[in-house]
Amino acid sequence: MADRIFLSSPHMSDEGYEIKYVFEAFDTNWIAPLGENVNQFEKELAAKVGTKYAAALTSGTGAIHMALKAAGVGEGDIVFCQSLTFSATANPIIYQNAIPVFIDSDYETWNMCPKALEEAFGKYPNVKAVIVVHLYGLSADMDKIVELCKKHNVVLIEDAAESLGTYYKGQHTGTFGDYGIFSFNGNKIITTSGGGMLVSDNSERIAKVRFWATQSRDQARHYQHSELGFNYRMSNVVAGIGRGQLKVLDQRVAKKNYIYEFYKRELGELEGVDFMPTNKWNKPNYWLSSITLNGKVRPLEIMEALEKENIESRPIWKPMHMQPFFEKYDFIGTGVSEELFENGICLPSDTKMTDDDLERVVKTIKGLWVEEWKDQKVASITGS
Ligand SMILES: *Cc1c(COP(=O)(O)O)cnc(C)c1O
Repeated sequence: MADRIFLSSPHMSDEGYEIKYVFEAFDTNWIAPLGENVNQFEKELAAKVGTKYAAALTSGTGAIHMALKAAGVGEGDIVFCQSLTFSATANPIIYQNAIPVFIDSDYETWNMCPKALEEAFGKYPNVKAVIVVHLYGLSADMDKIVELCKKHNVVLIEDAAESLGTYYKGQHTGTFGDYGIFSFNGNKIITTSGGGMLVSDNSERIAKVRFWATQSRDQARHYQHSELGFNYRMSNVVAGIGRGQLKVLDQRVAKKNYIYEFYKRELGELEGVDFMPTNKWNKPNYWLSSITLNGKVRPLEIMEALEKENIESRPIWKPMHMQPFFEKYDFIGTGVSEELFENGICLPSDTKMTDDDLERVVKTIKGLWVEEWKDQKVASITGS
């Protein structure tokens, strides 16, 4: 069988940048959750996205947790959270014993619907924070969302885990709100095997997060703690991988863009196929090329046909308000995210794919439309 084609898998640089920084950590015996790579990775990522400060953490999930804590979210507080996302966006709300209220998406961005957000502010005027997501590297409509959060004086957290390399009107995603988070999990556009980053222009809050993330150790000779601590600091080895990967981020975005254009050219004309919305103010990183289907060919048929050819694909993320664990919480919207989930599919968008691999994916998918056409012809001949 032909080699497996993945949705999005780790892709180290051809130049060997990552291993050089990892060797440096070994050479200096800085195999610890602190060191030169950690400090430099924070600086380099902050410079890349255009924020003042960054704290390197063990995961994107941990970064969202720390953002909520820094925002003062605690027991019983309401947090508005985009429903169409991966569960890691919402879980930290529960870690803080706060209460999520899920907000629908719109068709224009697939991300948080400003109208639904406005309605939510009407229903829950005491809300403490908002978490917006830039799903699949598409940016949310930040002008409207920032304006609403400012109007209601509420902290805005951007989950940019999937959108490193994505710009909204020339500004990098993750830098519009009070806090932004990035992830370097194995499936993201660049990876450190696992890791995350919290960014903010607030130096005092970032320093506080570094303090919490290293077990909240007070200044003292003995171990002294006046606050709850967390073990969330990124390893100096892992940060070395991150520094190397950051050097090839632009290359990765260019390849993801190429993959998207390839699919659009080859599949865009098929009956019932719509591509994810790339707005003119949006410069996506095209992390996962995604489509929705509104004709006779259904997502499951495509996923099964691809699986038979040893090609990975996945439905659009299942909204949080439909998840057994979260369904007891309130949801504000009209069902757009449900519809995207039911009709959507993420196509393999691995940056290591060759043109032959892309051809294999496209051929398999197109085959279903040929079958469809044949069925119709048989039906018209036999009158059934
Ligand atoms: C991957 C991801 C996260 C979590 O990041 P980890 O580093 O895996 O903890 C959060 N939100 C979204 C939208 C993600 O895709």
